[in-house]
Amino acid sequence: MIQLIKKQLGFIHPDDKKERTESLCIVEGKVPSVLVFPLSMHIGAPAEPVKKIGDKVKIGTVLAKASGKISAAIHSSVSGEVLAIEKRQTVKGLAECIIVKNDLKDEKEVFTGKADKELTRELILNAIQEAGIVGMGGATFPTVVKLDPPPGDTIDTIIINGAECEPYSTSDHRVMVEYSDEIIKGIQLTRRLFPQLKRIVIGIEDNKPDAIKALQLASKEYSDLSVQSLRTMYPRGSEKNLIQDITGREVPTGGLPSAVHCVVMNTSTVRAIYRAVTLGEPLYQRVVSISGTPIVEPKNLLVRIGTPVDFLIEQCGGFNMPPGKLLSGGPMMGKTLVDGSVPITKGTTTINALTFEEAHVGNTSDCIMCSECLNVCPVNLQPILISEAFERGEIEKANKLGAMDCIECGSCSYICPSKIPLLENIRGAKAAIKAKK
Ligand code: SF4
Ligand code: SF4
Repeated sequence: MIQLIKKQLGFIHPDDKKERTESLCIVEGKVPSVLVFPLSMHIGAPAEPVKKIGDKVKIGTVLAKASGKISAAIHSSVSGEVLAIEKRQTVKGLAECIIVKNDLKDEKEVFTGKADKELTRELILNAIQEAGIVGMGGATFPTVVKLDPPPGDTIDTIIINGAECEPYSTSDHRVMVEYSDEIIKGIQLTRRLFPQLKRIVIGIEDNKPDAIKALQLASKEYSDLSVQSLRTMYPRGSEKNLIQDITGREVPTGGLPSAVHCVVMNTSTVRAIYRAVTLGEPLYQRVVSISGTPIVEPKNLLVRIGTPVDFLIEQCGGFNMPPGKLLSGGPMMGKTLVDGSVPITKGTTTINALTFEEAHVGNTSDCIMCSECLNVCPVNLQPILISEAFERGEIEKANKLGAMDCIECGSCSYICPSKIPLLENIRGAKAAIKAKK
């Protein structure tokens, strides 16, 4: 699928395929006439609708509220009217969504930001929660929970994740180049939450020299804030890898970064924090890369949450050949989309179209016990053993082998000469373990 150049233990180096979009400025995407808001576009409990069919909404109106500690509010990204609340195709499969008809007036709620001098820890956390911010690098964990770690987990290091190691993805890259000042302002707000903070590091892969330069310039007056250039390797951007690379600390199995006194946040998330706290703006739009060989004119688009994928592909000139596969995310960690009606959510970094050739991984054969999948696993799992346990229905064994620690980087599937669908099986094992619990 992607040509392997070289690998080292725990890492691989796929061709990053970023050249078609990495230098393209972000442009505002067109807005469709109907938008689809999944109630579950984050990790945790689905949001609970607070609007009903026929209700009028504006940009920023809360459509659904958080329904528990680990959940997030969802806001309308257009003005108009609630058309339906029903199941639609989403990146997580068929799921409950709120459908909004756009009246094309773009009326906004009044966004009230907080003045710097009135900001307290509680006000900052409340603003982040009310804005519905979740990890925008794809993890979609509610940010307010991440920024309020368990008592005893003191934070001395904030790591801003600008690695963006997934092939084809350039949305964070462009945000770093074009909105570096907003990222730094978001970091300055976040640091107030951690009185014992000693150090802030922005980690960026060395294939983005312009992003490194932009953030070095924007942060030059802060002596405890540094920009660290990271050697381009996959999956450099996984939380555990970043923490190890930057601090030398190892997150324990099943543990959170806060257990080793770190908080890791994606660059777009930090920018969203600035916009929520200072401008009062909820998370209703984000930057998405639309790329891949079958796309006529790839772009980095500023997209309203809820926009169907095929509407965006149309803005990129459509396809120059029938695509073999459509992914939300890149080819390593992305999820296959059943069709182009699936909407953009808070965690959509990239829409990637693959050719038939790229999508066809080849026929599966027996494991030849080459150990390659073990060598490349960045969290030291034994992917083949977990995969086999899942295939035999031995879910408890898969759990004991550490399936839940898998970060779903896809390196094992990518490297496997026998084309065994290791990631697919491990994802299946994780789902079965969760269901059992
Ligand atoms: S997908 Fe999971 S098991 Fe496979 S290499 Fe990545 S972390 Fe390891
Ligand atoms: S990489 Fe594939 S063939 Fe090699 S040990 Fe792992 S599963 Fe078996």
